[in-house]
Amino acid sequence: MPEIKFCNVCGGQIHYQQPEGDNADRAVCSQCGHIHYENPKIVNACIIEHEGKILLGKRTIPPREGFWNVPAGFMENGESTRAGARREVREEVCAEIADMQLFGVYNIIQRNQVHVYFRGHLKGTHYAAGAETSEVKLFAPDEIPWEQIAFPVGITAMKRYVEEMKSGEFTIIEDDIIIDYEMLKKFS
Ligand code: ZN
Repeated sequence: MPEIKFCNVCGGQIHYQQPEGDNADRAVCSQCGHIHYENPKIVNACIIEHEGKILLGKRTIPPREGFWNVPAGFMENGESTRAGARREVREEVCAEIADMQLFGVYNIIQRNQVHVYFRGHLKGTHYAAGAETSEVKLFAPDEIPWEQIAFPVGITAMKRYVEEMKSGEFTIIEDDIIIDYEMLKKFS
């Protein structure tokens, strides 16, 4: 996460320092004393199945432009994780989700992110490329282009999904994703 440089209250210079009684360095305004607490961001995602295939969208924006992705995006203020996932699915692949269930919570500590994955089925048959997406496609498990998937968390979640869809017995897990930056460089 880039460091905060200016106060969002008064525009003063920020210094990172440990406030009295605190246990970590915080972005403190040198002018008005406002403390900017920085916390992880939440990303909501949904793996959507239709007739044994998984719906993915191809990204048209950085990061990972041109790579396939499970519909996902940052949560907005005023919405639930579930509503956030539904919104992202509408925006990116113009689809609605049926039978939506929680699938997994993935911590990405290196990025200060928490990804909340849902799973569900395509409601009806409609899907299309939305904003920030150039192409939407259903992939059978053995057609998934694993080396063209945008983010490690998407790979981890989909691999588990593909494994569990064989039996139809889905689990819910909480796990940490470790990003291998060297491996990412090879694929970018
Ligand atoms: Zn200030």
